[in-house]
Amino acid sequence: MKKLEILISGASIAGPASALLLARQGHRVTVVERAPRLRPGGQTVDLRGAGRTVIDRMGLTPATDARLLDQRGIATVDARGRRRSELPVEAFGGNGIVSTHEILRGDLAEVLVGAVPESVEYLWDDSVRAIEQHTGSVTVSFERAPDRSFDLVVGADGLRSAVRRAAFGPDDRHLRPIGLRYAWFTATIDQPLDGWYLMHNSRGGRVVSARPSRVDGTVKASLAVRGSDPEPLHDRESQWRMLEEAFDGVGWVAPRLLEQMRSATDWAYADLAQVRMERFASGRVALVGDAGYCPTPLTGLGTTLALVGAYVLAGELGRSGGEVAPALTEYQAVMRPFIARTQQLPPGGASGYAPSSRAAVALSRFSYWSMDKWPMRSLLAGQFAKADGIDLPDYGA
Ligand SMILES: Cc1cc2nc3c(=O)[nH]c(=O)nc-3n(C[C@H](O)[C@H](O)[C@H](O)COP(=O)(O)OP(=O)(O)OC[C@H]3O[C@@H](n4cnc5c(N)ncnc54)[C@H](O)[C@@H]3O)c2cc1C
Repeated sequence: MKKLEILISGASIAGPASALLLARQGHRVTVVERAPRLRPGGQTVDLRGAGRTVIDRMGLTPATDARLLDQRGIATVDARGRRRSELPVEAFGGNGIVSTHEILRGDLAEVLVGAVPESVEYLWDDSVRAIEQHTGSVTVSFERAPDRSFDLVVGADGLRSAVRRAAFGPDDRHLRPIGLRYAWFTATIDQPLDGWYLMHNSRGGRVVSARPSRVDGTVKASLAVRGSDPEPLHDRESQWRMLEEAFDGVGWVAPRLLEQMRSATDWAYADLAQVRMERFASGRVALVGDAGYCPTPLTGLGTTLALVGAYVLAGELGRSGGEVAPALTEYQAVMRPFIARTQQLPPGGASGYAPSSRAAVALSRFSYWSMDKWPMRSLLAGQFAKADGIDLPDYGA
């Protein structure tokens, strides 16, 4: 096995998972992350199907199991917080919209980073600025660190990947906005969740939600609104102002969340989009996770896809004995059909999640009630079964 010098950009899910698997093969791995430290925050993410198999093959099941959240189900509430419909977690055998294997995104990132071998070097508070590919290497320029050469660069830096921009061209070539803007942060509300994911739909495609957290007294909140930003809202002030305007007059805990969002220490915001690429690896640069094939949180499969991507990339590199070109060709071939399946949005897409008219909001409440009944049940069971839609190669130890 050739020992390679590998750069990974991004330290959330796809990045640390890749770092862990590649460092275990003996490669010299450097991780660059734009944030000054591991980013906290996010609501729960699902460990489903093949994603759970990857966690198991990494030997991390005990660590993730210890942090699973006690989930009771999902319920819609009206503007006064009264429950209107419920879908208990057992409805799809523990594998539905809310599953029995949900973990906070921040907890999963911590588990992965905690398992990364100590030999891995981190460059915090930095970012890839430019990439120049040569026949046998890649030269990377950083915002702060001096230029360096690598044998392989892995872009695991999310929806607005700097590696993708530097190696594959501008965002608008690859991003397909789905028309939903989404913010996540930790907050407090005056209604106990008791393990329930509570969601309030308001006219105009506005959704307020609160999900369980592991810290008593806090919830993992989100605010989502239909539409796309005409220009990317890079600074928080513009994101907050957009949400204050959009959620003006919305009931339930919306006013309280608007008050708290500006002081949240784990703020995250995205104008949701899918990443669609003909090729997500080229020369000595490969994209993993949201950077290369984001399916959006509406599918509930982004984390599974990121874990599977990291596993297949590392597995194929191991199989090729460290030969980058054949490994990247196989990586794309193995991943492509799985990506195509997981990128199919659930019925209704953004308008199903965030209905606009009064009638559509009422219909959406009814749909939660009807989800575990025919014919919705079989439609949705198909969506959740996609997490198993790959025959995961066994790359051995
Ligand atoms: C703070 C946060 C909260 C989230 N909350 C949720 C949630 O509640 N529900 C949900 O479904 N999904 C959430 N997501 C997205 C979810 O983690 C991903 O869709 C999925 O797990 C795939 O992960 P990923 O590692 O490919 O991408 P991401 O999780 O998006 O991670 C990308 C990482 O790259 C870093 N990065 C970005 N740009 C650069 C750069 N130029 N240089 C270096 N590093 C860079 C980011 O800071 C981040 O750490 C969240 C993501 C983040 C970062």
